[in-house]
Amino acid sequence: MAFLGSKSMIEDNYKQRGLRGKLVRKLRTKGIRNEAVLDAIGKVPRHVFFDEALLGHAYEDKAFPIGEGQTISQPYTVAFQTEKLEIKPGDKVLEIGTGSGYQACILLELGAKVYTIEFNKILYEKTKEFLPSLGYHPYFFLGDGSKGVPVRAPYDKIIVTAGAPVIPDALIEQLADNGILIIPVGGREKQTMVRLTKKKGVLKKEEFDTFAFVPLLGKQGWKP
Ligand code: SAH
Repeated sequence: MAFLGSKSMIEDNYKQRGLRGKLVRKLRTKGIRNEAVLDAIGKVPRHVFFDEALLGHAYEDKAFPIGEGQTISQPYTVAFQTEKLEIKPGDKVLEIGTGSGYQACILLELGAKVYTIEFNKILYEKTKEFLPSLGYHPYFFLGDGSKGVPVRAPYDKIIVTAGAPVIPDALIEQLADNGILIIPVGGREKQTMVRLTKKKGVLKKEEFDTFAFVPLLGKQGWKP
């Protein structure tokens, strides 16, 4: 996997930066408005997460395989979920589904303190080693994120990057007051993006477009 990173692939040259600028313009035309989110997409190298054979696709607005049957989310999806979280510097953010770590890097660029949990041990180990080599330092956890990460709760923001059959109770419980949870909920193949906002213990629910995520596994997820 490129993901373990040879030096030549990690190099961020003018060509990669140019392609990234083009991706940012594309996300703008697709409706992403938050300048801080667009800046973060413009900063984080995405090509370093790709296998050599797929390198040419790194700045297309598409999801791609990262091994272990998992994917690096589509840039539009990353931008959409991040925008809906309204991240402020210093926010404590829990991410369910570390995967490649790309989404975690975007959150870190926005100044968030990031706690990220991954169910797949191989991906967890790879990403835990790889992200710090790029200069990104979230707190990594291995386990079933459908139960959240109670030891570090509450969180100002929670982002679920796998498709869930229901909104896990544990995540609602671990959300701070004035907190925001963004989660794709629905079937195994397609889900509706849902945002929950907690204010004085009262939840407000908003629904957005349809997306296609890999399934959230675990106690409040799908059976493997
Ligand atoms: N955020 C990732 C995309 C992740 S794809 C990125 O930026 O690349 C979804 C990830 O969720 C996969 O890596 C999958 O293994 C993980 N996952 C599925 N169920 C999970 C669970 N219950 N807890 C934690 N991670 C889970």
